[in-house]
Amino acid sequence: MALVEVRPPGAADPGAASGAPADDEAVVVRFRSDVVVELVRAAAADADVASAARVSTVGERSREVPDAAALAGLITFLMRERHGTPFEHSTFTFYVKAPIFVWREHMRHRIASYNEESARYRVLEPEFYLPGADRDLVQVGKAGAYTYQPGTPAQQALVAEGFRSVCTHAYGQYQRMLAGGVAREIARGVLPVTIYSRAYVTMNARALMNFLSLRRRDDRSHFPSYPQREIELVAEAYETHFAQHMPLTHAAFLACGRVCP
Ligand SMILES: Cc1cc2nc3c(=O)[nH]c(=O)nc-3n(C[C@H](O)[C@H](O)[C@H](O)COP(=O)(O)OP(=O)(O)OC[C@H]3O[C@@H](n4cnc5c(N)ncnc54)[C@H](O)[C@@H]3O)c2cc1C
Repeated sequence: MALVEVRPPGAADPGAASGAPADDEAVVVRFRSDVVVELVRAAAADADVASAARVSTVGERSREVPDAAALAGLITFLMRERHGTPFEHSTFTFYVKAPIFVWREHMRHRIASYNEESARYRVLEPEFYLPGADRDLVQVGKAGAYTYQPGTPAQQALVAEGFRSVCTHAYGQYQRMLAGGVAREIARGVLPVTIYSRAYVTMNARALMNFLSLRRRDDRSHFPSYPQREIELVAEAYETHFAQHMPLTHAAFLACGRVCP
């Protein structure tokens, strides 16, 4: 994680700022390279997968939990044969803070519930994404299977300067418009997609596996995917919680080549 605050000497505290900044020198913005993922709630268990599946054949006895070996066997069977609906009864709610360009990718996953902070109803905080020193910068390979290599010091400097100057200038213009009485919903139009936004995301385990299959790179997958690194950071955190709460389901997901059932 990296969180860098850019504040020129003598600049005012951002919380106390009022009025239009004269120029970019007075604009205070923060830069960071991470995402925040917190598990709010997990209503999720391997046993619930078995119950949902077994109601088909044993009715009222479906709440009886099979022994561990039978449970693992049933879940692996469901995963392998792509009987996906029993996995839909387990859900995860996450609080996520990520740059807007990550949210644009994330919200393509329609089988999820979202509530995001509004730039119409509140002033967005001056917090922007800046690629960290460990972020590869150079794309090689063909479309659909890119790989990335570290940038040179010159490329790193180019990226840092570009991100810092554009975000600082954009936020300054945003503040100027707000101070000048312009509505938030208009002023936000100058903010770049690197600005951070927060949302709650609820997904069932089946939709979550679909997300994980597409948003993590793993060459052992039956269908390897090549996601952008920043949404992969979100997926990594999701998968940690998924594995913790549904270890047998997670193990079966891996054993079946990360194919969503
Ligand atoms: C590496 C990568 C590159 C990508 N590049 C692009 C790009 O260049 N441009 C772009 O626009 N998108 C791109 N996407 C987004 C991608 O096309 C999907 O929108 C996104 O991954 C969500 O997948 P999904 O539809 O399976 O998920 P969800 O929307 O969560 O849907 C889950 C599943 O529900 C079913 N489903 C949902 N909605 C429907 C429906 N309307 N009709 C039928 N079945 C439905 C499908 O089985 C689907 O797999 C990219 C994704 C990845 C991972």
